[in-house]
Amino acid sequence: MFNKRIKIKALLAEENTGFEATVMGWVRTFRNNQFIALNDGSTNNNLQVVASLGEFEDSTLKRLTTGACIKVTGQVIASLGKGQKVELKAATIEILGDSDAEKFPLQPKKHSLEFLREIAHMRFRTNTFGAIFRIRHSLAFAIHQFFNDKGFVYLHTPIITASDAEGAGEMFRVTTLPLDGSAPKNEDGSINFKDDFFGRSTNLTVSGQLEGELAAMAFSDVYTFGPTFRAENSNTTRHLAEFWMIEPEVAFNDLEDNMNLAEAFIRYVIKYAMEQNKEDLEFLAQRLEEEEKQKPQQDRSEMGLLDKLNFVVNNDFERLTYTEAIEILRESNHNKKKKFQYLIEGWGVDLQSEHERYLVEKHFKKPVILTNYPKDIKSFYMRLNEDGKTVAAMDILAPGIGEIVGGSQREERLDKLTARMAEMHIPAEELNWYLDTRRFGSCPHAGFGLGFERLVQFVTGMGNIRDVIPFPRYPKSAEF
Ligand code: ATP
Ligand code: MN
Repeated sequence: MFNKRIKIKALLAEENTGFEATVMGWVRTFRNNQFIALNDGSTNNNLQVVASLGEFEDSTLKRLTTGACIKVTGQVIASLGKGQKVELKAATIEILGDSDAEKFPLQPKKHSLEFLREIAHMRFRTNTFGAIFRIRHSLAFAIHQFFNDKGFVYLHTPIITASDAEGAGEMFRVTTLPLDGSAPKNEDGSINFKDDFFGRSTNLTVSGQLEGELAAMAFSDVYTFGPTFRAENSNTTRHLAEFWMIEPEVAFNDLEDNMNLAEAFIRYVIKYAMEQNKEDLEFLAQRLEEEEKQKPQQDRSEMGLLDKLNFVVNNDFERLTYTEAIEILRESNHNKKKKFQYLIEGWGVDLQSEHERYLVEKHFKKPVILTNYPKDIKSFYMRLNEDGKTVAAMDILAPGIGEIVGGSQREERLDKLTARMAEMHIPAEELNWYLDTRRFGSCPHAGFGLGFERLVQFVTGMGNIRDVIPFPRYPKSAEF
């Protein structure tokens, strides 16, 4: 049989020696015409394979180049090398796929993240991206585990939608109409979508929340975990045009329950990754530490990656209202010395990311949950508070990232909801299906959206969101 291989992760964990094993993987380096560092992606650690001098044809040895794919069978022996208990003494080496050393884009040296982004089809084979995407996998798995353990139903919400009422961001249009100007037009010159595929104008979804609410009114506890699309024309380190979002929606939860759920959820998945991906996280922590050393003293973060994650797992997030946050910001030296680009003068303004980061990184030095924002800067579906001015919203802000979660208790009262929609010029007829939940058995409920890539950024310590999704989509880039 061709494939009786043992994965390198399992082999490196072996206590015993003196047995035969077969491994397959990609050559990272080949030293002294003898020592192959082999990686199969199961772990960040390479297996040392020894091709003893004189035992292999020169024609084989020449093909052991960085990037080549090989199959090796041999004896597992105790290793004299540092940092590894076992190694493999090769008896047979089969080249599965050659790799021209001159042309292989990954050389055994440090490449910049920018360069690696250009060869995203190859970057999986680096230590850094191997670690990132194993951690991304663990986090995704932990998310399902967390909700499954709590009895939530995993709901698949549509990716193509006709509703553009949510206003979460600019949408991508979905159409089969011709783009050459021959699409059918209305009398006023606008496109007539009656002849389009769905008989109406459609877009890629920006959020599954509204559909999530429909299901929460039957299953009580649901969550979505799927792709979302926003034609964000901003080139930031925290925005993608295509990203994955987790959106739980829970009947009978109020704002406080919602915050408790979000905190427990974030802690759980981080803890899971810390247990499952210890070595990957240690590698990334080391990487980050070296990166930090390049920065001027005042820009360096006070905590290393592992300390930061431990801190989040072991400490409650700081909770305060928007109004309290505005007070802190207005009174801050930063504001007084006009160090903010947007100065905080009064109540009602939306917080910019510089303000969020000030609160989290300078003032509290821990994740912060801000609640009860002015209704005018938040979406129509958020529940109006007693004061008539604020809504039961909550945003979670994380060090280094800014907003990681946006959520709220939803407006369950039909009259209040329709009044708010009218104020915001949202046509009720388009959302009749949504309003039906408030007409038939409405109940208090709450939910939030967590951007998966921002979570992965937080856990891996990566500065740019484009480096935590395999093939990032952003303005002027849809490669691979
Ligand atoms: P921001 O102010 O950062 O643009 P938002 O207010 O538009 O965020 P929401 O509409 O509340 O965000 O979306 C919920 C979550 O989805 C956010 O908290 C964030 O984690 C994530 N998110 C939003 N937009 C993007 C994006 N373009 N790329 C990646 N993640 C995003
Ligand atoms: Mn946004």
